[in-house]
Amino acid sequence: MHIEVRNISKTFHGHKAVDNVSFSIERGKLIGLLGPSGGGKSTLLRILAGLETPDSGDIFINGKRVNDVQPQLRGIGFVFQNYALFKHMNVFDNIAFGLTIRKASKAEIKTRVGELLDLTGLRGFEHRYPHQLSGGQRQRVAFARALAPKPDLLLLDEPFAAIDAKVRKELRTWLKQLIGTLGITSIFVTHDQDEAVEVADEMLIVQKGRLEQQGSPVHIYTDPQTAFVAGFIGHSTVVEQPESLRGFGGSSLTAGAKALIRPEFVEVGREREIPFPSAAEKGKVRHIFFRGAHLELDVEVGSNRLSAHRSLDQEPLQPGDEVSVLIHRLYVISDESATIVENPLKVDPLPVHI
Ligand code: ADP
Ligand code: MG
Repeated sequence: MHIEVRNISKTFHGHKAVDNVSFSIERGKLIGLLGPSGGGKSTLLRILAGLETPDSGDIFINGKRVNDVQPQLRGIGFVFQNYALFKHMNVFDNIAFGLTIRKASKAEIKTRVGELLDLTGLRGFEHRYPHQLSGGQRQRVAFARALAPKPDLLLLDEPFAAIDAKVRKELRTWLKQLIGTLGITSIFVTHDQDEAVEVADEMLIVQKGRLEQQGSPVHIYTDPQTAFVAGFIGHSTVVEQPESLRGFGGSSLTAGAKALIRPEFVEVGREREIPFPSAAEKGKVRHIFFRGAHLELDVEVGSNRLSAHRSLDQEPLQPGDEVSVLIHRLYVISDESATIVENPLKVDPLPVHI
């Protein structure tokens, strides 16, 4: 294992910012560290970098315990959310900074900065100052500066949070490619699930200082282990009284447990379009939103409101239409766990011949 974090905790003024977190990361992986604001992501990253001391727990890099190793000797590059470039230094000097303090020779610095200017597409900008650059360019400088001393591990704390949506999307594609080419182990912090899913080989989901789940984006999406992850990833509707749903009226749902239902778990249509009418609920279309590639339907089922997708190729529905609603599966939430339950009534209807 390249990175191993064991039972790390950190308390600020009686508040547990990081609560007994353990994980390990293989060399070369790009990890998305995802969770809501205040969840402890930055604190975790700063502890890894040695900018913060944990109250307890151990950090291993390449099998060596680094708790007592100075930040600058841990072989870690750090990119922060706010560009944190030196305003009074031009692009060249900003990128060269880590090499200058390590007393690298002039020739060495020139070669390495040149490589990084090419790598980050900043050739020609070396004499500009930060205020003469766009947000995206500044973050590329920050990235080049972090890479200059050839770190073994790259930590990126919401690097694109301050950049507008379109440029941000371009930058993350660029970053993923670049990190892939370099093969450098990286941890990318974000509170944006789409960003994490798009960028990461593997995700770590944290909330309230605790690690909720580690796994590939597909694994986390399809098999959330905790109630928090089931609700945080994807676009779910919470159903307070799932026992009121006919199709799920069997013994599989206990009264009092909530359910989470994703739009892709729900099929809405005229009765004849629904493959298992006996398992379907009756509903009414309340709103229809055009979402580009598909329609999103807001449907009332008893006292519940569900969200479902419908293809543009299907027969159009109107708000107010009575529809059949087949819920294929849902997550049952009890205490802090999430369990997927398939519709128990979804049996193949036998064709009736008289
Ligand atoms: P995130 O990066 O996920 O938004 P942080 O790691 O910044 O979360 O913060 C986690 C919690 O720890 C928050 O409640 C925050 O207010 C608190 N915290 C972080 N750093 C400090 C600090 N230096 N002093 C006091 N509280 C802090
Ligand atoms: Mg943060």
